[in-house]
Amino acid sequence: MEQLGHPQELFLTNICSTIELDLIVGNVSARYIEPSKEMPIVGHRDFFYKFIYNCSDGSFTQIPRERLQRSHDRLAPDHCPVCVIVAEREEELVPQKIHHGVAWHGAKYHVHDTIMIKAQEGPCHIGQILHIHFPQSDYEDSVSVRVKLFGRIDKLGLRPAEELKDGRHLFVTQDEMTIPLSSVIGQCQVYVRASVPELEAWLEMSPYHFYACYSFPSLNVTSWNHRHRLEPRDLLVCRYCAAEDLAEWNHSQKFLKKHKPLRALDPFAGSGAFGLGMEESGCVKVTHAVEISPSASKTMKANSPDTVVYNQCSNLVLREAIRADAGFVVERLKKIDLIGNDHDHDNEEDPYIPPPPKPEDIDCIIAGFPCQPHSRLNMFVKANDRKSNLMLNVLSWVDFMQPKYCFFENVRGFLSFSLKARQAGLYRVKGGIAMGGLKFLIRAMTDMNYQVRFGILQAAHYGAPQIRVRFFMVAAKYGSPLPELPQPTHDFPFVDSLEIKLPVGHHIRPIWTRTGYAPHRFVTIDDAISDLPRFDWVNPRPPTDPARRQEERERARTIPLKKCKKDRPWCGYSGRDVPYKHDPTTALQKWCRQEPSKDLQHYTRTYEPIKVERVVNIPMEANADYRRLRPDLWEWHFANPSSAIARAGFKPGLYGRVDKDRWFQATVTNIDPTAKQSRVLNPYCKRIFTVRELARSQGFPDKFVFYAENDHVVTMHRQIGNAVAWPVAIAIGRELKKVLIKMWLKDREEAIEVE
Ligand SMILES: [Zn+2]
Ligand SMILES: [Zn+2]
Repeated sequence: MEQLGHPQELFLTNICSTIELDLIVGNVSARYIEPSKEMPIVGHRDFFYKFIYNCSDGSFTQIPRERLQRSHDRLAPDHCPVCVIVAEREEELVPQKIHHGVAWHGAKYHVHDTIMIKAQEGPCHIGQILHIHFPQSDYEDSVSVRVKLFGRIDKLGLRPAEELKDGRHLFVTQDEMTIPLSSVIGQCQVYVRASVPELEAWLEMSPYHFYACYSFPSLNVTSWNHRHRLEPRDLLVCRYCAAEDLAEWNHSQKFLKKHKPLRALDPFAGSGAFGLGMEESGCVKVTHAVEISPSASKTMKANSPDTVVYNQCSNLVLREAIRADAGFVVERLKKIDLIGNDHDHDNEEDPYIPPPPKPEDIDCIIAGFPCQPHSRLNMFVKANDRKSNLMLNVLSWVDFMQPKYCFFENVRGFLSFSLKARQAGLYRVKGGIAMGGLKFLIRAMTDMNYQVRFGILQAAHYGAPQIRVRFFMVAAKYGSPLPELPQPTHDFPFVDSLEIKLPVGHHIRPIWTRTGYAPHRFVTIDDAISDLPRFDWVNPRPPTDPARRQEERERARTIPLKKCKKDRPWCGYSGRDVPYKHDPTTALQKWCRQEPSKDLQHYTRTYEPIKVERVVNIPMEANADYRRLRPDLWEWHFANPSSAIARAGFKPGLYGRVDKDRWFQATVTNIDPTAKQSRVLNPYCKRIFTVRELARSQGFPDKFVFYAENDHVVTMHRQIGNAVAWPVAIAIGRELKKVLIKMWLKDREEAIEVE
């Protein structure tokens, strides 16, 4: 496994195969080592192991007690635990008849169960099992299932405006079809609206929860008037599964009441989105956060007032935390923005940061460690970039705090980050250990006795209206169950297998990205921002052509105009009472507006008149860009054949208008119509996106307010672009909650047995 393990470390796998006798060279001793703080001591020709490595998802997990015991208890030929597991798995592949149903792939399906069915494209189909047919003779194919199909309200074009576009809202139909059992993806729950009293909380509990209010004669709805309102008795449910779902709901409610949230530290908090998004699960609370930028740390504090925020360098806070823990006198560090500001006594703010956190205060570390040196968008790759060392800071925090859980985020480019590389030209590095960053991270975590799994997550797969891939790692201390990576809940048509090629030759695919499997459709730009107020920038040079002037005047009747002036910090609307364009029409809009915003921050940054003029002259069509501008508005580099753009074959995108029915480009820190990621023109208005629109692209709730010195919009852009997309954080939090509830139930059971 190259540098992934200690030179004498082995990993158990789930592979067992036969080899030729003459390939055997001799005996070695390999023994299981109980994880401890010390490095294992083994003879120089011996080996040790403490983890199972799964070569299909790249995870390193602890070895279950049963597996260690099994190899001792049983005699040959049945003593191989791997073969037992493989045999069990193979057995599950054969459908087994059970009472009122069929068991297959580790799941049970009964008559009246609601199931997800593979689709050619888009989200999966959803149906209710009417009948399960087992083959009567050898001539018949395998098991087939007769289902009644549900329709999706969000896909109905004739849905009235007051009916929310909600992926969870289904309707009952009379359409039936027969499918092979192999098309069944898994179970989901569909209930009549009136039978779920706490609908919002129940929907939040699982992406596989749906509700229905109406029935229509068929999937092909021709009139909204053909609907019938459903009563709970109109939809039969499977007794077993409904009881199970209810028990799960009760456990979840009880768990949240009895179980204090894990206390989390974020050593590179930024605006805090990663941890605060995870808080939605109810099982984590960000109690401590370090953030070096004064503005971002104020944003964090304003949006999470109970969090202890350190506006300082994470290295210095760590140093003081370690010193304090060792009993030394701690130097009181000043807040970054108040250093050298001794005379400002009008300011009531305490100039010093709070006392550092102690290991017993923290259960969990959540960190998106700064990504500049790895970002593919960043041209300035430097071999000795200090920021690449911030991983060491995170790992030192882990070593010092020994938290139960860790959650890390980084850019995808982190995977191609080499260790010990040398500078080979201004923008290029050469040599070093391939994927050294990842190897170092895994090795350090497993050496500290953490189980780990990692993968590339696509934000659009979790309901963010944005294409954004990031690297994530989840780690759990030996003894705590390791959460899964969340699987896609939203079908996203952009093809990317999110595969990781490990340097040891394994291709891991921890995320299932195939289209037709996820329960919901992706969220569009229109879904995300159509309810925010419209406004145009004033054209700094009104057109001379009377027809076009008339056109502009017409447009101004419905869409207000705002002057975009370079000497002002922003252009648009600010404050708590900014009226929305309309009530929420989609699930995301409703979610974002659950709580009122103290400041909608629905404003753009400002530019010099020529840039404003170019923006307002881009046609109002999707994907229109600088190529549609009149030549006199071209920038030098559009027109010059030797410019970078010209040499790149006039790449589309500069001054680009987005397509409202698609998704946002990765929201980055530099929002500008001439930046690398330059499709930033609003689909309905003659201007670029506002701060609130960009926040929506990342799934921030509207109550979240960004703080920036002097209302500097670029600073807000940076906070938004650096954040973890809120829906991804929610999905990760949900996986954590699953394992915590499981562990809590198991502990409770064991406690009862002892009594
Ligand atoms: Zn075997
Ligand atoms: Zn059932």
